[in-house]
Amino acid sequence: MRDREKRTVRDLRRTNRSAVLRKLYFDGPLSRQELAPATGLSSGSISNVVAELTADGLLEEAGSVGSDGGRPRTLLRVARRSAYLIGVDVGETRVRVELFDLALTELARAERPLAARGYDVDRIVGFIRDAVADVLREADVAPESLLGVGVGVPGIVDRSSPGGAVVHGQTVGWDAVPIESLLRDAAALPPEVPLFIDNGAKTLGQAEMWFGAGRGARHAVIALIGSGVGACIITDGVLYGGAHSSAGEWGHTTMQVRGRACRCGARGCLEAYASAEAVLERWAEIGGDPGDADEETALAAFLASAAPDDEGDRGAVDEKAAALLEETAEYLGAGIADLVNLFNPERIIISGWAGLMLGRHSLPAVRRAAGAYALRHPVERTTIELGRLGPDAVTVGAATLPLADFLSRGGRGRESAPAAR
Ligand SMILES: [Zn+2]
Repeated sequence: MRDREKRTVRDLRRTNRSAVLRKLYFDGPLSRQELAPATGLSSGSISNVVAELTADGLLEEAGSVGSDGGRPRTLLRVARRSAYLIGVDVGETRVRVELFDLALTELARAERPLAARGYDVDRIVGFIRDAVADVLREADVAPESLLGVGVGVPGIVDRSSPGGAVVHGQTVGWDAVPIESLLRDAAALPPEVPLFIDNGAKTLGQAEMWFGAGRGARHAVIALIGSGVGACIITDGVLYGGAHSSAGEWGHTTMQVRGRACRCGARGCLEAYASAEAVLERWAEIGGDPGDADEETALAAFLASAAPDDEGDRGAVDEKAAALLEETAEYLGAGIADLVNLFNPERIIISGWAGLMLGRHSLPAVRRAAGAYALRHPVERTTIELGRLGPDAVTVGAATLPLADFLSRGGRGRESAPAAR
């Protein structure tokens, strides 16, 4: 019984710390007087929690504002340099490791391009280990001040194994890769630094929901279009994972029975039509020249011939490429119509490096196609827009994994654990 009481007190304390930290993180700076109504806590509780968090070094003063006739009110905010985060994007064309402060300002980054289909797990793990050490050294940050490392990976992340996260990346040839234990074994991190692993599309989705085009939405889908195609589904503010966290594999929904071969082994998937890899393959089939450069350069070349920026220069348009771009927009729009019909989101956000490039040219065509293929009532109530965080948001999203843990615990585990007192 006493144990239960202890636990309840501890839970309450953690909940209060979490409420204050979260409010200040997303809406700060705020005064103590503003925090009470915003969190539903009494002014006494606010004073206690603020004193505790300040003693832990997590809050700092941010000037003051005058109040009507009374004393000026001190503003508080989360101390951005009180802890650090690392986000890792194991992407389709490169691996990137970025170090952030608590406000997610980038302090250092390391990046390595991957050769085509170069998903050699050992090389990737080795690069992450070296890059983590490099960014910490470059920014002069001690590993102990890391809240954690978040890693976005291509594939389905299974957390049911006792050894930690295992990745099933069918399209990149990762068959049950025990990424978490591999990173631990490679001593990529000090053992006490927590590691968080999730699908890249989901980490990007979380970043857009917190800081980008998804802010304020309760029901949204973030579509990630790069070499492949994925999605992050948010229903009533919560990420929808399904029974084994594989939900959102939108790229492998069938657009055409007996259609083009997909990287997953099936036929006619959306990814086989609307991903950058598919568009470039199809462009080459109609005589386009993707060249030897990386996919981003090649996709830019395709867009330049399909839809030259200079409207006066219509003579430069390659009609076949223009027709392919139009068809790609129609496939994307039809895929988005499926999302609208299935999930009834209020907002759909097109993101990922290829999604942003295609969207800049074809957003009106994608919206038209979505309107034509979806049911009228839901699609008229859905907005379709581009992501706001740019193509590099997977690392930011990966860094939100340890950040979310920090905010929900109301601090680092160490400070908020009663045993430490
Ligand atoms: Zn597929």
